[in-house]
Amino acid sequence: MRVFNFSPGPAALPKEVLEQARDEMLDWNGGGMSVMEVSHRGKAFVRVAEEAEADLRELMAVPSNYRVLFQQGGASAQFALVPMNLAAADSTTDYVNTGHWSHKAILEARNYTTVHVAADAGAPYLRVPPQSELNLSGRATYFHYTPNETISGVEFGYVPQTGGVPLVADMSSSILSRPLDVSRFGLIYAGAQKNIGPSGLVIVIVREDLIGHARAGTPLVFNYKAVADDHSMLNTPPTFAWYMSGLVFKWLKRQGGVAAMGGRNRVKAARLYGAIDESAFYANPVAKDSRSWMNVTFTLANPALDSLFLDQAADAGLKNLKGHRVLGGMRASLYNAMPLAGVDALVAFMREFERRHG
Ligand SMILES: *Cc1c(COP(=O)(O)O)cnc(C)c1O
Repeated sequence: MRVFNFSPGPAALPKEVLEQARDEMLDWNGGGMSVMEVSHRGKAFVRVAEEAEADLRELMAVPSNYRVLFQQGGASAQFALVPMNLAAADSTTDYVNTGHWSHKAILEARNYTTVHVAADAGAPYLRVPPQSELNLSGRATYFHYTPNETISGVEFGYVPQTGGVPLVADMSSSILSRPLDVSRFGLIYAGAQKNIGPSGLVIVIVREDLIGHARAGTPLVFNYKAVADDHSMLNTPPTFAWYMSGLVFKWLKRQGGVAAMGGRNRVKAARLYGAIDESAFYANPVAKDSRSWMNVTFTLANPALDSLFLDQAADAGLKNLKGHRVLGGMRASLYNAMPLAGVDALVAFMREFERRHG
């Protein structure tokens, strides 16, 4: 039985996409083989790869002076690859610390560049700093931030103004969740396993003029220019993850694209936060203007009931609601593949649980 899977990542995929992959598993494209068993350089797979890129470009309206890379190593590898590819050894770079993932990006970047922390929201990371609190160094090669912090559930409601300094964004948990003006960014990266497809793939969208300056010692397979020149086929890419991501992009187009998803995601988040706010039994501590649409955290008034809540939710087909171990409580991840019906089922369960135990 399919359940409503609120996992933060690897996360739920659209049922239709999984069904298509199942139907094509043994005999893909009429070749009598799985897509996993064919050459990445063969005509059939190259078409999959090109279509995936074209569909992503269309969905996000990626301007033609940006390259789209399909890489490995996850978003975490990009924490090092961004400075290695974009910043010289004597550079300064600006970073905003809004939580777990931006902090990790800062720690890694410090191995390659002088990091100036332009703002630090401070643990337990319950708000994002407004533009007025961003203290730019004035000499940064780029400005890095994490639009959505997956663990504490805080999200920027605005795109920072950096006065011409290229914006670099870790969009692992928010890419494709709402419309975005890509031209405001120098580089966007996102691990696939939250809002795109299976793990093992990370997507990088980078403005052409920013690549080609990788520092000496950058491994060739991680050199953005080399990867771009070889259409992400410098070596064997994660073909199955690429194929699955392509199916998800086609599904997104059928859903009406990012504008339609954004509308739905707004409604999903509002419905769950609304239920939390109107109850004295549940609480969300995040500042209202910083609340994530993708990762909604909440606590129970009595934490002794946490495990009962999780057990009964799982029995009701609502899975993976346990909050991150550093925060405790609950977290419901509402990525694109989570239908409104899943949120409604969760809200109904929460009301019933409160009625019985509140
Ligand atoms: C999940 C996540 C990461 C880490 O992704 P990996 O692919 O596991 O390296 C980084 N940043 C954000 C915002 C995430 O949500």
